[in-house]
Amino acid sequence: MDSAIVLTYHNIGRPPRGAKPHGLYVSPEAFRLQMSYLKAAGFNVVSLDEIMDFINGRSQPRRPGKRLVALTFDDGFQDFSDNAWPVLKSFGFAATVFVIAELAGGENLWDCDSLNVRKKLLSWETIAMLKEDGAIFASHGMTHTSLSSLTGEALRAEVAGSKAILEEKLDQRIDYFCYPYGDYNEETAEAVKASGYRAAFTTVKGCVFQADNPYTIRRVSIKSSTGPLAFAYKLHLYSGRAARRAK
Ligand SMILES: [Zn+2]
Repeated sequence: MDSAIVLTYHNIGRPPRGAKPHGLYVSPEAFRLQMSYLKAAGFNVVSLDEIMDFINGRSQPRRPGKRLVALTFDDGFQDFSDNAWPVLKSFGFAATVFVIAELAGGENLWDCDSLNVRKKLLSWETIAMLKEDGAIFASHGMTHTSLSSLTGEALRAEVAGSKAILEEKLDQRIDYFCYPYGDYNEETAEAVKASGYRAAFTTVKGCVFQADNPYTIRRVSIKSSTGPLAFAYKLHLYSGRAARRAK
């Protein structure tokens, strides 16, 4: 059965001195190698719009047997602009960055203490520049708060509020949402839908299949520990359903 795969990245760079070891960094060299691999192996690297077409049965992989792959970058770190985008551009690959509406231009306030590192987030100026250059932006909420504990107006503010800010700043429709910490429940997903997003992305591990619920899309995370073989394995062999069974 055909499936597509949405990859999740966080930082493309090296952890600064003093940072607690954590797996969210992929080195620029490893990232370039991974993109080279996608190209050499003939994957169809596509935008999230094309993943939606696949879910809705409106498109098939252009080359049979070659998966659709979409690239997503959570949190909107400055290193996306410094280290990822130039590589993505050189390969002509689409990419979506999930930014935090109230923190753009600031720092990772949600985990700077636990990681002992302050990471710069893309400013609105850089976001606008990258958008002009072809990068796609989407929402990761207002403040990077767990949403399943919120209800009513507080939930709406995170979901609809961040959409409104991004749409105003970027002067375009914002179609996609990514749950902070991958934390969602039925009410959260409903709020995302009611706010007019086309789809929302989770941290549930797995592939995307036709007719999947667009508000609970699974992804596959690429981390510092993902070596070249593991990367190739995830792209060629990994099945979301098998992964769920193995849990
Ligand atoms: Zn995040």
